[in-house]
Amino acid sequence: MASTCYDGIGELITNVPELGDGSPLGVRHDAAVLVADGEVVWVGDRGGAPAADERVDVEGRCVLPGFVDSHSHLVFGGDRAAEFAARMAGEAYAAGGIRTTVTATREASELELLGRARRLVAEMQRQGTATIEIKSGYGLDVATERRSLEVAAQLTDEVTYLGAHVVAPEYVDDPDGYVELVTGEMLTACAPLARWIDVFVEDGAFDADQARAILGAGAAHGLGARVHANQLRPGPGVQLACELGAASADHCTHLTDDDVTALADADTAATLVPGADFCTRSPVYPDGRRLIDAGATVALASDCNPGTSFTSSLPFVIALAVRECGLTPSEAVWAATAGGAAALRRRDVGHLGVGARAALTVVDAPSHLHLAYRPGVPLTRPLTKPPTPAKRR
Ligand SMILES: [Zn+2]
Repeated sequence: MASTCYDGIGELITNVPELGDGSPLGVRHDAAVLVADGEVVWVGDRGGAPAADERVDVEGRCVLPGFVDSHSHLVFGGDRAAEFAARMAGEAYAAGGIRTTVTATREASELELLGRARRLVAEMQRQGTATIEIKSGYGLDVATERRSLEVAAQLTDEVTYLGAHVVAPEYVDDPDGYVELVTGEMLTACAPLARWIDVFVEDGAFDADQARAILGAGAAHGLGARVHANQLRPGPGVQLACELGAASADHCTHLTDDDVTALADADTAATLVPGADFCTRSPVYPDGRRLIDAGATVALASDCNPGTSFTSSLPFVIALAVRECGLTPSEAVWAATAGGAAALRRRDVGHLGVGARAALTVVDAPSHLHLAYRPGVPLTRPLTKPPTPAKRR
């Protein structure tokens, strides 16, 4: 069992309050971490670790748990740079823009899709992200949704079936027929590859009754629920996610007081993806301050996708959440690590307590505050090797 001691850590973010200063981040100064066999086995003072096969001195830098990006769409063909430019020239975003990518994804080979997704995963990992959720949702037919999930399952264990991204172009005049496909033949083909099922609840996508049918069918196949909710305007998505016990309601840009109360009371994380609000030039950002003050669990994710949030950078998302969503720098770091783990219902990632997966990210700075304080600066990199998917199906 090979062991490595990461020593000389100026500031260690454990996300375990009792391992550090009692705050949610569990901050510990002048620390060391011992990892063996892919797990954290000891956390303590600098220079105090038991003997290890290898010792790495991080020379006073900050170390934190690898980021947990709980919302991404990395399997797609084509590019929407021209649409982005048009939007920045004044055109509004509507949910239907997804169909542009659907055409390109259906035309792409599995090898092309895998090559692209693999490059994006590597891009995330280089920036310190250790756990990545990947959705389908640009196929919208049985063969392409299945192919998308086969690609995703080669890259992560957190695979989400999103046949209900928008109604497929062939079904624009028969949306209920499409829901039948998504909950029938397509689900049967996709469920064995996925852990989660997701639905975009929005005008132009799916309404509450359709979403309830889709998530219910997924549950019958053992898939946990996630919801794209309240992105473009207030709607039923958040309440439905809380009612059905979804792991996460994502976006949460337009919330009523009742939505905030529901999230505070439920075991459903509010996942904010301010990169999407940035890239669509949304006049409104999600009010993370209001959610945290109400007692909701807030996560931050990239929503990396070619149409509305083509960033893979959680440090950028952290900076946005601080500037635009009212989070403190410490809350934003927690939300991008422990919050993401909560949104995926994972106990082995998002913290550095004993037994956690050995996923350590180093910040080329003395403190986690620098992530928001120095936006756009590439400060983070992985200290440990990124995990490979355990469950090849
Ligand atoms: Zn999304």
